[in-house]
Amino acid sequence: MQPGDLITSDHGARPGSPSDIAAAWQVLNEVMDPEVPVVSVVDLGIVREVDWLHGHIHLVVTPTYSGCPATEVIEDDIRLALEQAGFSAPKLERRLTPAWSTDWISDEGRERLRAYGIAPPVGSSSKRSLLGESPTICCPQCNSPHTELLSQFGSTACKALYRCRDCLEPFDYFKCI
Ligand SMILES: [Zn+2]
Repeated sequence: MQPGDLITSDHGARPGSPSDIAAAWQVLNEVMDPEVPVVSVVDLGIVREVDWLHGHIHLVVTPTYSGCPATEVIEDDIRLALEQAGFSAPKLERRLTPAWSTDWISDEGRERLRAYGIAPPVGSSSKRSLLGESPTICCPQCNSPHTELLSQFGSTACKALYRCRDCLEPFDYFKCI
């Protein structure tokens, strides 16, 4: 901590209202995942709670894949967007338990992933690990179920690289965890 941090973070403290919380969610809806710029942090389900704490907006954020280098970028983007919307010194709290799961991605988020050319995670992560079965991944371009795994790692570690046997297009699959 630097001298002056306390003063800086106390600057702009004020009572919050329900409309502040709603406005903050609106702002968060516009903060996109840096790796998949069509899904917001709300679509991803990484913003768990928004409330007002000690005169400032306060968020609980659960990062996606642990060790994902995008985590700090996302947190900075969130902080900046809230500041630009007039929330002074937003407080972000990183919560690791329970761990984020692809089950938390909203239906809208799944649709946007597909439209972007990334196959959304299939099924529930908890069921998968119980049954140990591999899911059918449909091609996001032509919706064909005839796809093959090319590599466990796609454009980022969070994705696997697949290819469609019908339209022959390679595509990323957002891995289910
Ligand atoms: Zn296809």
